[in-house]
Amino acid sequence: MNFTIATIPGDGIGPDIIEQTVLVLDKIGEKFGHTFTFTETLAGGIAIDQVGEPLPQKTLDICKKSDAVLLGAVGGPKWDDFPGDQRPEKALLGLREGLNLFANLRPALLYEPLKDACTLRPDLVEGGLDLMVVRELTGGIYFGERGRRQGKYGEEAYDTEAYSKEEIERIAQVAFDIAMKRDKRVTSIDKANILESSRLWRAVVEEVAKEYPEVELNHLYVDNASMQLVRNPKQFDVLLTTNMFGDILSDEASMITGSIGMLPSASLGKGSFGMYEPIHGSAPDIAGQDKANPLATILSGAMMLRYSFQLEKEAKTIENAVIEVLKQGYRTGDIMSAGMKQVGTKKMGQLVVENV
Ligand code: NAD
Repeated sequence: MNFTIATIPGDGIGPDIIEQTVLVLDKIGEKFGHTFTFTETLAGGIAIDQVGEPLPQKTLDICKKSDAVLLGAVGGPKWDDFPGDQRPEKALLGLREGLNLFANLRPALLYEPLKDACTLRPDLVEGGLDLMVVRELTGGIYFGERGRRQGKYGEEAYDTEAYSKEEIERIAQVAFDIAMKRDKRVTSIDKANILESSRLWRAVVEEVAKEYPEVELNHLYVDNASMQLVRNPKQFDVLLTTNMFGDILSDEASMITGSIGMLPSASLGKGSFGMYEPIHGSAPDIAGQDKANPLATILSGAMMLRYSFQLEKEAKTIENAVIEVLKQGYRTGDIMSAGMKQVGTKKMGQLVVENV
């Protein structure tokens, strides 16, 4: 089969990790008889430098014409003082909005060979950890009305958390559909004791749950959820939550697994189109030094094969190759531990290719 993929390396370590992922996908193509055609395009700080805006229209057009998008990361200190709507991160919001990607899937998996990297007591993650954060991606406070105004005590700033019934319904359906393929448990996370938007969230999730009688639903306030994640993470299967709460909780979940450099993500809309990216940022501190862990991006490539191209066997081949490389004792600096063999970005990519 033939697939077109828009690649957006972006800034910092983005180009390093995308390069390795393309090599792995090419190897999959060779092994299984598929052709992946990559079109590289600009977004983030590099786009600001080259064409004056973080998300050029041309980039959006290329993405829309592709079957899926593979993104590295955007941002860096060079652009930190730019005004909000001209910052590299604006490209991410623009891509999600422009491509109508409303569901963000962030699996947090503790790989057996990396169990020592887990920051929790071993008995808390005994037997592994496998949870999925389903985060709403195009609504809530990151997209609500914001501004500055004169208040009682001088200048003040505000942001607005707003959710429509329809937005909640469609993300809840994604979470329940995923739960049906897993352990059939959904935990919906909100702040319904305080926020009106959370009260609507809870009511709509309850409604959607009626369509999935086999799935067990429970609710947690976000403060409790953040405690439970480190107290007993194995209690969770699918965590369903809003844009901002999901942003924070998925990073917490990722830390439990040991390294932010290991976790992929998928952003989906209706249909099979999706954008795939690691959950980490552009790591400017290690950019261009052959130190970045490419595995989160490579595993994002596997998610792309699974969710956008329906190539389950090929996706599993990548995931198994990653596990094999870890079992062989190879580690990038971020997941290095005593007795293991430390390698750089390129070598790690090459090892995955060899194991595919
Ligand atoms: P970060 O994820 O870039 O880095 C946090 C820490 O983790 C750093 O010490 C970094 O070296 C390390 N790290 C991250 N990814 C790694 C990898 N693959 N291999 C090894 N180590 C890795 O987060 P930050 O420092 O808060 O942000 C840096 C920049 O990235 C900022 O400009 C931020 O806005 C941007 N950012 C972009 C995205 C994105 O593009 N999706 C997400 C988060 C942050």
